[in-house]
Amino acid sequence: LFITFEGGDSAGKSTQIRLLREHLLQRRGLSPEAVLTTREPGGTELGVELRRLVMHGDHVAPRAEALLYAADRAHHIETLVRPHLAAGGVVLGDRYLDSSIAYQGAGRALDPAQVGALSLWATDGLLPHRTLLLDIDPSVIARRRSAGSLDRLERAGSAFHEAVREQFLALAAADPQRWRVIDGAGTREQVHAQILAALEADLDA
Ligand code: C5P
Repeated sequence: LFITFEGGDSAGKSTQIRLLREHLLQRRGLSPEAVLTTREPGGTELGVELRRLVMHGDHVAPRAEALLYAADRAHHIETLVRPHLAAGGVVLGDRYLDSSIAYQGAGRALDPAQVGALSLWATDGLLPHRTLLLDIDPSVIARRRSAGSLDRLERAGSAFHEAVREQFLALAAADPQRWRVIDGAGTREQVHAQILAALEADLDA
């Protein structure tokens, strides 16, 4: 079972992945080895290097950036995710190919469909069984951070974050079989409960 978590920055993905992992171990009796939690970019040793290159370079040309994410993904899927799935394990992924489509699409530098096709080539077509979108209004996150007052930087970035959100929602709407949209604005317990409800059929299968 391959479950991915998507959403904007600070949507709470890593907290929710941790809570779901605890649930799987404590309530569902899975062994710690059976549940792989991982992330992109940076889930492998090579991925850590690629993450450093793509995030700390001054300016990376958009196509080069897309290829670095795709290279990270190709290596991550082949060396870590596929073997774990083949052994019957559960994989909880913090971001996957939809993040590339949403961020590059929102950046408007590249065609989202081409970015998606590149990712599918890189992963030899592996799609998650389930993708959870932790959806939250970016201005709510900005307010949480700065307790009411948006600073200049956050205001400047808000159009971008809004575009990322719209792109994720469009992806979810286009493939309701795979996606479940979770309201990320509640408390962490409320969001966790929604996630368990969304995954009930998958976890019981
Ligand atoms: O998941 P994390 O918060 O570490 O991601 C950091 C940033 O990496 C995101 O905010 C986004 O700007 C970028 N990113 C991206 N394309 C991806 C994955 C991440 O642009 N495929």
